[in-house]
Amino acid sequence: MNSPAIAQNLDLTALNTEFEHRDALEIIAWAAEEFGDDLALSSSFGADSAVMLHLAVRVKPDIRVITLDTGFLFPETLAFRDDLARRLGLNLHIYRPVMPADAFLAEHGRMWRSNPDACCAFNKREPFDRAKRELGIRCWLTGIRREQSATRKHAAIAQRDNLGLLKLCPIARWTTKDVHYYLLENDLPYHPLRDQGFLSIGCQPEPGYCTVKVKPGDDPRSGRWAGFDKTECGLHTQDGGSGI
Ligand code: SF4
Repeated sequence: MNSPAIAQNLDLTALNTEFEHRDALEIIAWAAEEFGDDLALSSSFGADSAVMLHLAVRVKPDIRVITLDTGFLFPETLAFRDDLARRLGLNLHIYRPVMPADAFLAEHGRMWRSNPDACCAFNKREPFDRAKRELGIRCWLTGIRREQSATRKHAAIAQRDNLGLLKLCPIARWTTKDVHYYLLENDLPYHPLRDQGFLSIGCQPEPGYCTVKVKPGDDPRSGRWAGFDKTECGLHTQDGGSGI
């Protein structure tokens, strides 16, 4: 297996300068050429996840797609995942927490109410890190966009993740309009709950927690962990402190 610290040897500043002038397909093609089968895509099968999935399989049809099933997802998300997997022929790798949802609830109670950071660390961060290690990933793609929230506004296209791996955000510069027209032009669907006002979609262990509808005009990510000083689950932070 290749060194997990691969990104340490890359000049991220130079890469980012270059990638700011490249389109999403060019960035993905560079990664496929550089990392081959050690390249993966992380997907939450959220509101507009079909865009990154479609772009990635256009470049590398057999790319490994890592997704988490925390046990607290909407049934619509699981159906959306399976539908897209069929349509796009996805090479899906589904990872789950060590403890199934029922056992987690029995042992820890409703941790998402009291300590959502710890809940995400257990149910998202650990299985995601395990996936990257087990699959020997050296670089992964994600669909983060700068328009999604204030905390993603300055997201670099090339980053190091918490394991020192290269993380790429090929559609970081895309606007909501860009996403909309790409889906339309390629006959791709939004997540079925988006029409109901869920603009960013993750777990919903119980109504009102972790994923709620977004008020008109607010950031799409404002519907995540409403009422908490938390905007990410740890998959998109280096220290794991705070989300797919
Ligand atoms: S999103 Fe909510 S239920 Fe899911 S892991 Fe994080 S805190 Fe727990």
